[in-house]
This record gives sequence, C-alpha cells and structure tokens, in this order.
Amino acid sequence: MNVVMFGPPGAGKGTQAKTLVAERGWVQLSTGDMLRAAIAAGSELGRRVKDIMDRGDLVSDEIVIELIEERLPEAEAAGGAIFDGFPRTVAQAEALDALLAGRGAQIDRVLRLVVDQDELVARMEKRAAEEGRADDTVEAFKNRLETYNAQTAPLIPYYQTRGTLADVDGMGEMAEVAARINTALDG
Ligand code: AMP
Repeated sequence: MNVVMFGPPGAGKGTQAKTLVAERGWVQLSTGDMLRAAIAAGSELGRRVKDIMDRGDLVSDEIVIELIEERLPEAEAAGGAIFDGFPRTVAQAEALDALLAGRGAQIDRVLRLVVDQDELVARMEKRAAEEGRADDTVEAFKNRLETYNAQTAPLIPYYQTRGTLADVDGMGEMAEVAARINTALDG
C-alpha cells in the first residue's frame, strides 16, 4: 500500500503519518525529516539545503527524489509507505509514479487533509513553541503557505484525474482525524 499524506504546512501530515506507522507498521517517508536529519548531521547535503529550508522555499526536485528512491525498498518490505511532504511538485509526482511503476507498484491513495487557514497558523505557532523549528517563524511560514499554493496545490487535479484523491476533514482532535483517515483507507 502506498499512501500520500497531502496538505498544506501545519495540516497534520506528520502527526497522522506517525499514527499510521504505529497502527499498521508502515514506513513514514518524510523528506522534511530526512533533510532536517542531514542538517543536524552537518553533512554536505545539509549545508546545501539549510538556507533554502529556513526561508520556506522548496529544495530541488532531484534532491528529494533521490532521498525517496533510497528508502523505497525499506517501505516495500514493511508492506506500506506513507509519503509525508512528498511529492510537492508535479515533477516530483511524475518521478514518484515512474519509480513505483518500475517496482510494479503505484500510489493507491492520496489523503488530502483539509484545514482552515487560521487553524494552520495556530498550529504552526504551537509547534514553534514546542519544537523550535527554524522555518516556523511568521515570515517563513507565510512563504511556505504561498509555496504550497503555487507549487504543490496543482497536485490536487493531478491526483483527481488519477482517481486516487480522498479529501479528509483535518479539523478537530488528532484521534478524530485519525478515525476519518482509517475510514478513507478502509472504506
Ligand atoms: P516539511 O517538514 O515537510 O514541512 O518540510 C520542511 C522543508 O523541507 C520545506 O519547507 C522544504 O524547504 C523542504 N522540503 C521537504 N520536502 C520537500 C519536497 N518534497 N520538495 C522540496 N522541498 C522539500
């Protein structure tokens, strides 16, 4: 099973992906987490992406596609991948489709978490206090939302056309959203 957790920054993609990992044993493939790990490790990749991420811009498609490709065998062995924060551009979505097709697989479901703009900002502020992420500042978050609208939202029609998109109400308590996700996945 290959599931994309889709939605704007602050929609709860990471939180809900972790719930699916706990409940189903699938593997969370978060390009944001992988990039933050590279920065924390002080690697060459980390140095290349740090300023871009701090601003809230997207890193290049090549970088994230390579990171995802490296982890596909692990997810396959676990019986499921939850793509979290990837794909973020149409080029990434096309590359992912091609990578999966090469392994005899496909994206089975795209769960789009729908959350009000005011709630997104409130969640970002809460996370800023809890985790201190460098890109959870008002300025960077505004840019991340704009980047989402310009570069990532075009994936909605992309997946609609393929019949894989399911809208999930992302408002309310974590457990309520998790229950809606389970319904969207299992019918
Ligand atoms: P996230 O943790 O998913 O919110 O990602 C944090 C930041 O990492 C983003 O604002 C981008 O700078 C970078 N990033 C994560 N995933 C991607 C991606 N699929 N494509 C481009 N940049 C990404």
